[in-house]
Amino acid sequence: MSASERRELSDQVQRRRLVIAASLSVALIAGSVAVVGAVVGAEASGGAASSPAGGEGAEGAAGPESARPAPDTAPPPATVETFDRAAHSIDDPASIWVVVDKLRPLNPQDYEPVDLVDVPVEHTWEPLLRQEASDAVVAMFQAALDEAGLELASNSAFRSYSAQESIYDGDDLLTARPGFSEHQTGLAIDIGAASGECSLAACFGDIAEGVWLRDNAWRFGFILRYPADKTPVTGYEFEPWHYRYVGVELATEMRETGITTLEEFFGLPAAPEYG
Ligand SMILES: [Zn+2]
Repeated sequence: MSASERRELSDQVQRRRLVIAASLSVALIAGSVAVVGAVVGAEASGGAASSPAGGEGAEGAAGPESARPAPDTAPPPATVETFDRAAHSIDDPASIWVVVDKLRPLNPQDYEPVDLVDVPVEHTWEPLLRQEASDAVVAMFQAALDEAGLELASNSAFRSYSAQESIYDGDDLLTARPGFSEHQTGLAIDIGAASGECSLAACFGDIAEGVWLRDNAWRFGFILRYPADKTPVTGYEFEPWHYRYVGVELATEMRETGITTLEEFFGLPAAPEYG
């Protein structure tokens, strides 16, 4: 479904809601008149002290504003399934939805993207990413600065098979084996505060830069790939600095559905360990 079709659909839903809301209001105004009548009657006889003057209180209560239905009487949300989970491959290493984990090595294992570019942002280690992901990082870092005054930096982005060979330290909870690293897709980036505070440490999740990323990265097509409570699914400990570009469409869908890992979203087996 195209963006304009989706807009049109949401307009239709909007219109339908307005019609329902309008008819509900009419019914409720009628209802509230009866209620007000009863209240005024009660106040007149029982002398309730809730309002200084019975007349004023009754007048306020008669307005449609105070006669709004309780939230549980609102029309149900539209349940139209619009997201196509097969729109991109999860197997092709060149797909922005490719899922790489301990059970899903890159194929071929020495895959290298053809459109790597230098990401023009602050960094501690020369950052390369695929063009689309690079553009998104630039926009995201700029927004962090403009909206929150936060300066971000790249600590690590694309890593080749051979770079991963030298980085892999034997601890499978912390680093990926060569051929199994999301960094090799050119779509993953380790982000830090430009100040270097909590760089590549769990406390990054608690400082302003980490919190801003957690709350806003989806807008630019990134997901926090290794959430704190998903080690049994992803096979990695919480990495509040590691973000994976999947595109705005998927990042938005995952946020709206509350599904935080690619494995769960695509119905893939958990990958706590190498096969
Ligand atoms: Zn990383």
